[in-house]
Amino acid sequence: MRARDAKVRGCLFKSRFSDEATARAVAMHMLSSGIITTKRAWVYQCGPECRGWHITSSSSGNYRAASVRADNPWVAPEFPA
Ligand SMILES: [Zn+2]
Repeated sequence: MRARDAKVRGCLFKSRFSDEATARAVAMHMLSSGIITTKRAWVYQCGPECRGWHITSSSSGNYRAASVRADNPWVAPEFPA
C-alpha cells in the first residue's frame, strides 16, 4: 500500500487511527504526557478520502463532540472543563 499524502483539512496531528477508541486512547496519552499542551482534545472522523480518525486540540469547526481529557477518554460536550 503506497503512502499517500491526503490533503485533508483539519488534520492537525497527522496520525491517523482506524477507530475512535484508539484515537481517544492515544489522545489521553498525549494529554497526560504533555505532547498536547491544552487541557482537552477532540477526536473526529475524517472525510471519505481518509476515513480515519484524527486528534485535534482545537474545538473549532465541527469538532464539538465529546472531548478527551488526560483522565477521561470520553467527556460529554455538555460538561465544560
Ligand atoms: Zn484525515
